[in-house]
Amino acid sequence: MDKQKLFELEQTYVFRTYRRQPVVFTRGEGCYLFDSEGKRYLDLVAGVAVVALGHSHPQWIEAIKEQAEKLVQVSNLYYTAPMIELAKELCEISRMDRVFFCNSGTEANEAAIKVARKWGKAARGDHCHRILTFSRAFHGRTLGALSATAQKNYCEPFEPLLPGFLQLSPRDIEKVDSVLDASFCGVMIEPVQGEGGVWPVESAFLVGLRKICTEKKILLIVDEVQTGIARTGKWFGFQHADILPDLAPIAKGLGGGFPIGACLARGEAASTLTFGDHGSTFAGAPLAASAAKAVLRVIQEENLVENAQKMGGIFREKLVELAAKHPLIVDVRGLGLMIGVELKEPVAKSLVSKALGEGLIINATGESTLRLIPPLILRKNHVEEAVRILDKVLTPPARP
Ligand SMILES: *Cc1c(COP(=O)(O)O)cnc(C)c1O
Repeated sequence: MDKQKLFELEQTYVFRTYRRQPVVFTRGEGCYLFDSEGKRYLDLVAGVAVVALGHSHPQWIEAIKEQAEKLVQVSNLYYTAPMIELAKELCEISRMDRVFFCNSGTEANEAAIKVARKWGKAARGDHCHRILTFSRAFHGRTLGALSATAQKNYCEPFEPLLPGFLQLSPRDIEKVDSVLDASFCGVMIEPVQGEGGVWPVESAFLVGLRKICTEKKILLIVDEVQTGIARTGKWFGFQHADILPDLAPIAKGLGGGFPIGACLARGEAASTLTFGDHGSTFAGAPLAASAAKAVLRVIQEENLVENAQKMGGIFREKLVELAAKHPLIVDVRGLGLMIGVELKEPVAKSLVSKALGEGLIINATGESTLRLIPPLILRKNHVEEAVRILDKVLTPPARP
């Protein structure tokens, strides 16, 4: 179908919830996407940190094909092998104890919130239901996860939200310590705040949180939905701080493009929910679990944890060099292949459009931050290509 016609139909038939770029993608291969006119783009968004192995990875396709021919879904009324094997692998790479499967990031966070609520009631009674989160946080769009999300524009139209959430700065550990009392059952934090603008949280802060939560018997929830599964150059963001959370919701990269989420849990948090407490029709279905197993296998075989770390370092170095030439760039930050580029002026959206025109897909979080979250298979030649195009779109057109 013609591109203009698709734009029209979308306007007519689809909820007006997304401001889409004016492009129709039809095919992907590795780090590249192709549009309806056959134009090629270097993809540094990767379906929002989802397409970890790049587009159309042969082993991932093979795993899905093979499983689709055998068994796709039977529900959680029965046993299936891929889900159980996946749970074991996830526990091994994370050193967590148990897994609850779901289908998205927001659901993974809902599961964590429910664990914390039930655990708090059992530990200290009904008043122990509050959860501390942090300014600039993003935890999802369903009402529980939304209540944990500090950003006004996401929340205001839907108030009243779930009671019991408080937001503080992710820098002031003393303030956190002074506020956390027996009314709190959980603390929820992203190791690198993603949607909020790619802000890595200091390891010392995470270590401090772990210590306070252990002392005061509060569950530490590390939202690894974006940072998890090798994105930051370790399997999980919390490993940079050498801590273990009580709960770690994951999703985005886990299925490599197939929707699947999970809430990893440890210690008491891993046995808080029991029969009938929580569930999901689709969760952990053989097809989704097989896709995720393929993702974990390829990450191991192709050393993508190390690659994310190495390429992230090279990318940030080149961006810092670019910043020396273009004063519009005032900061380059991030961890592994989760990179934020801060601009002096609120022109992120126009740069995203310009880059698209030049065959580079990047994303803006807010008015003045560019976000780069490419596939984990990124190579040096891709970094060089990206920097070359960024250099071009940052260069003002010569005056006639
Ligand atoms: C994307 C994201 C979510 C929400 O995930 P969905 O799959 O969109 O529901 C939650 N937390 C973090 C940190 C995220 O980046």
